[in-house]
This record gives sequence, C-alpha cells and structure tokens, in this order.
Amino acid sequence: MDGFPPFSGDHPRCASCGHKGAHTDWHPGWPTVNIGEYLQRHCARCGFFWGERLAPADAPEPAARPTLQQRLARLFRATEGAR
Ligand SMILES: [Zn+2]
Repeated sequence: MDGFPPFSGDHPRCASCGHKGAHTDWHPGWPTVNIGEYLQRHCARCGFFWGERLAPADAPEPAARPTLQQRLARLFRATEGAR
C-alpha cells in the first residue's frame, strides 16, 4: 500500500551521506494521497529525510550492549577455539 521500507532500527545508514544514526519522528501521514501514518527518519549528520513504516508492536528493543566482561569472555572463547 505504501512504499516505505521497514523500520531500520536506531542506527540506520543514511542513503545520502553514509552516516549511521538518525532521529525518528512519527508522522500522521497524508490521507489525501492515501498514505497512512509513518516514521520520518532524519539523518543526524546531513539532515536527509526519508520515510519508514511503523515498527511492529512486538518488535523487541535492541539488545543491550554487551558489558566489557562479556566481550572479554567472548574474545577469550574465540582465542581458545583458534588453537
Ligand atoms: Zn546523512
């Protein structure tokens, strides 16, 4: 129905300047041209705008960043596996 790509998360790559990271604003849509509500993305670096579909209601929050301890443990396992 609408031509928007799916929601790309908190760190999408800007199609204009390649920057990773964009603001998100909800937009009520344009009923006169049969476009429903959508998310307006706004590049944090160059200001490029683009539209994306609303995130599904059951979309999980992005996983928390691993702690330094978890990253060290993973690195250690990878090193072990390489021997
Ligand atoms: Zn940009």
